[in-house]
Amino acid sequence: MQNQVKVGIIGAGPAGIAAAVQLKRSGIFPLLFEKERVGGLLHNACLVENYPGFPGGIGGKKMVSLFQEHLDHYSIVPLYEEVMKVKPGQQQWQLFSQKDRYHLDYVIIATGTQPCTGDFASSSPRVLYEVYPLLDKKDCLIGIIGGGDAAFDYALNLSQKNMVEVVYRSRQPRCLPLLHQRAKKNPRITLYSEKRLKAILEENQKLQVLLDNSKSRHIERKWDYMVLAIGREPTFPEIIQGADDMISSTLFFAGDVKNGSYRQTAIAVGQGIESAMRIFFEEKKG
Ligand SMILES: Cc1cc2nc3c(=O)[nH]c(=O)nc-3n(C[C@H](O)[C@H](O)[C@H](O)COP(=O)(O)OP(=O)(O)OC[C@H]3O[C@@H](n4cnc5c(N)ncnc54)[C@H](O)[C@@H]3O)c2cc1C
Repeated sequence: MQNQVKVGIIGAGPAGIAAAVQLKRSGIFPLLFEKERVGGLLHNACLVENYPGFPGGIGGKKMVSLFQEHLDHYSIVPLYEEVMKVKPGQQQWQLFSQKDRYHLDYVIIATGTQPCTGDFASSSPRVLYEVYPLLDKKDCLIGIIGGGDAAFDYALNLSQKNMVEVVYRSRQPRCLPLLHQRAKKNPRITLYSEKRLKAILEENQKLQVLLDNSKSRHIERKWDYMVLAIGREPTFPEIIQGADDMISSTLFFAGDVKNGSYRQTAIAVGQGIESAMRIFFEEKKG
């Protein structure tokens, strides 16, 4: 019975992967859609220290490779297609990807978040919004704008091979105190508190960056790259609303896409598993 149930999972980050594995264990073979790469945001994480089972922490990249092994173990091969739209049909959902249209009994949205660009949206290859494209760089001077956990995690990651400067607006950064302490102790990281990004200019293969403080004193910096870590917002395909009962019993959201300030891997994994279990119980009810 379960083999005929059609489930689509959008996003192969921790939430989508956990849902896919749980469904497969229940005898349901899901379609797992991924627009970029398996592992989602974890590709950016320097050290994940709060995932049970890894007392010394585990690097984001290593965690992604273990998640990939888990998918392989259950013979789950993602479909590398971006999902553009999810729309209710007569009794099933219609899912439109760039390549095809699918008819599904259940859909799990596990699409995570995308970076906020603020007033400094830039198409320059020297201005980035995530850190993974820079992980092979060395001996560069890299500026990071932001005072949250992601900004400090990026700084600690990049400082292994580069010099890093972190700029944030408040006196104390918003990140976990332990990340702040590590950054303060790191000779390859300089912290600029109470500073704002004012302007960016690209010149001679460098970014010419103007910072100012509340007294409008300007500081000029020359960086090879800059990473803007000024927040993230949920990312969705277009979801066409349908009958409410169909939405509540056959459409699920799991992971960072719905978690507001509570964006953590273990939470995303738990919600992926919960969505899969709800689908299994729904099917058992008949
Ligand atoms: C620097 C940094 C450090 C972190 N450190 C920690 C930590 O120490 N501990 C911790 O618990 N968490 C940490 N996190 C958070 C953790 O990475 C996230 O909570 C987790 O990845 C969320 O999983 P998710 O599956 O909900 O979303 P994501 O990981 O964002 O995955 C979503 C996936 O959906 C795909 N997708 C999106 N839209 C579509 C579409 N339309 N069609 C197809 N695919 C789509 C994306 O490409 C992506 O692969 C960190 C994050 C960052 C950035």
